[in-house]
Amino acid sequence: MKKSLISMLGVLLIPLFTFTSCQQPPEINLEDVTRVITTLASDEMEGRMIFTPGIEKASQFIQEEFKAAGLEYLDGMNSYNQQFNIYSIAPGNVIISIDGKVVDAQNFLTISKAESLEWPSLEGVNVLTVTASDNFQTKYGEISRMPGKNLVLVDPAHKEFFGRVKGFTLRASRATEVNNEDATVMVLTSQTAMKNLSVKIDNNVTAQSLSNVTGKISGNRANEIVLFGAHYDHLGIREGMEGDNLFNGANDDASGTTAVIALAKYFAAMNKKPERTIVFVAFTAEESGGYGSKHFSEQMNPDEIVAMFNIEMIGKGAKEGPNTAWITGFEKSSFGKLLQEAVEGTEFTFYPDPYPTQNLFYRSDNATLARLGVPAHSISTTQIDIDEDYHKASDEVSTLDMEHMTNTIKAIAKAAEGMISGAQTPTRVDPSGLR
Ligand SMILES: [Zn+2]
Repeated sequence: MKKSLISMLGVLLIPLFTFTSCQQPPEINLEDVTRVITTLASDEMEGRMIFTPGIEKASQFIQEEFKAAGLEYLDGMNSYNQQFNIYSIAPGNVIISIDGKVVDAQNFLTISKAESLEWPSLEGVNVLTVTASDNFQTKYGEISRMPGKNLVLVDPAHKEFFGRVKGFTLRASRATEVNNEDATVMVLTSQTAMKNLSVKIDNNVTAQSLSNVTGKISGNRANEIVLFGAHYDHLGIREGMEGDNLFNGANDDASGTTAVIALAKYFAAMNKKPERTIVFVAFTAEESGGYGSKHFSEQMNPDEIVAMFNIEMIGKGAKEGPNTAWITGFEKSSFGKLLQEAVEGTEFTFYPDPYPTQNLFYRSDNATLARLGVPAHSISTTQIDIDEDYHKASDEVSTLDMEHMTNTIKAIAKAAEGMISGAQTPTRVDPSGLR
């Protein structure tokens, strides 16, 4: 008797539950937005600087949130953690001989991303000269970017500039890959020709680990992707600075990362499978060379990315008043116009970036994807020209307007509907028109 009553109740409860969840659309709410940004911008995360335990904690937290949302892993991955290496390369031991004579250390410099390389002879080496009357500064700019094996004989008239450049090349540089082929060797010498050359370079190379956090909601169209991204790294702790030296980066860009998490939860909680696939990414290293978005873009086919919403600094109200946000690179695709259309009739408005002289389109991760043709734009609300907390230790949650932020995330969710359903497709960005 008991048993059958329970199973009867079960039968009744299941449709009731389904009915209830149909009636309540998922919500982007102030409490969860506040909880997420407060955690990301807490002192415990140490300002989320790359290569620190603080950013590892932030990555863990974002992964947990993606899991709570129920996101899937990207194709070919078995976690949300998109790990990759970059390399710190510093000159180590270098020996250069010309016509059997070892060149003095102060008279050569090397530009190389090799762990070690050896040129036993002049074979395959491009020999160039910088004469006394050449503009070495201009020539250096060209030559230092040339691929292949290059030996540059620099007239001693350029000794001073040569010394300055040498100082610069002795510092460790970062590279996304170790390249044992290409190198440029510059020698300060009055010689303009030679018979024999030998070069041996041993650099000090250290691999350093970085991670994006990525996840997706599969749509009916696997090869059409709408992308939401924001960078979760920031500037960390500045040693030797008096007073508050912990850069929490609440607005920049814990606010955007919070939006990505909130949007992941919002779209994942929909009962219906989306038409287009939705990908969510928290980028690393935006503040240190954009290595996160670069690596991410290399794992994707950019032609499949229909649109990218890059969300940057939405924690403070915009110039045009409440319920507004602006879009960088507005004229570069129809993305901005489509967003405007999508929120027509609501309280919210999108408008073009009011600070064109700041070149903000090029100052975030969207530019990496835009250069591959993706309609990739940043959405922001901060008055960057007068903001007193930008890249300061004072960029803390207490300076932000949570209600404004929540409303902005809701507006982005609404604005993206047509792109996710396939009703709207922005025009591509023309990479040839970009820097
Ligand atoms: Zn930023």
